[in-house]
Amino acid sequence: MTGNIYTIAIDGPAGAGKSTVARELARRLGIFYLDTGAMYRALTLKALRNGVNLEDEQALVELARQTQINLGNHTDGIKVILDGIDVSESIRSLDVTNKTFYIARVPGVRKIMVQWQREIGKRQAIVIEGRDIGTVVFPQASYKFYLDASLQERSRRRILELQEKGIEVNQQSLRAELKDRDNKDRTRKVGPLCIAPDAITIDTTHLTIAETVFVIMRHLQPVHRIA
Ligand code: C5P
Repeated sequence: MTGNIYTIAIDGPAGAGKSTVARELARRLGIFYLDTGAMYRALTLKALRNGVNLEDEQALVELARQTQINLGNHTDGIKVILDGIDVSESIRSLDVTNKTFYIARVPGVRKIMVQWQREIGKRQAIVIEGRDIGTVVFPQASYKFYLDASLQERSRRRILELQEKGIEVNQQSLRAELKDRDNKDRTRKVGPLCIAPDAITIDTTHLTIAETVFVIMRHLQPVHRIA
């Protein structure tokens, strides 16, 4: 864990601040940021575009086998390339968000995703963020964090995020959707969202992004704190 290749795993429910915190942390440390949710989203988008039956697990596994997803770090955010096409924007649609659970609950699909994620983490130091990182993908991660926040705060952040993109949403239904997504993430049979026993939990309800990054940085060994 003192080497150059180390792994910082961040898990937590939607809207807990994982993506922004993980991206900022990786930037500060000068290491790769891996958004695993983007992979599940990209495959969902492909399934929707190809008209694949989302209830057909075998078809979804087959689709995952025939798919290439590349994630790149750029100064203005991450780029998600699905079979050579930039889908960074389209994977964030509400439709994709609400249908990703079909993909995420399929054991064969998760197996492929986990393999991809481990391959990336083997090559370089990373901050990797998702739902099952500290428990399944990298149980031996050098550092594990679990970010949480109240449902009210998480919905408030999501609404702001969408408003910034010019999307107006009904607060009540967004909150219900968020709750429903968390529930599905927590109760699926494979790779459910849960706190790894050795993870450090951080409640971000009253913390800014910078404060959360600061708290995480304080837990890192000095050798890893320098970019
Ligand atoms: O993190 P994000 O909200 O983009 O993730 C979208 C969905 O992808 C989650 O709600 C979850 O169902 C799925 N996911 C997952 N495992 C991960 C990351 C995301 O099942 N490691």
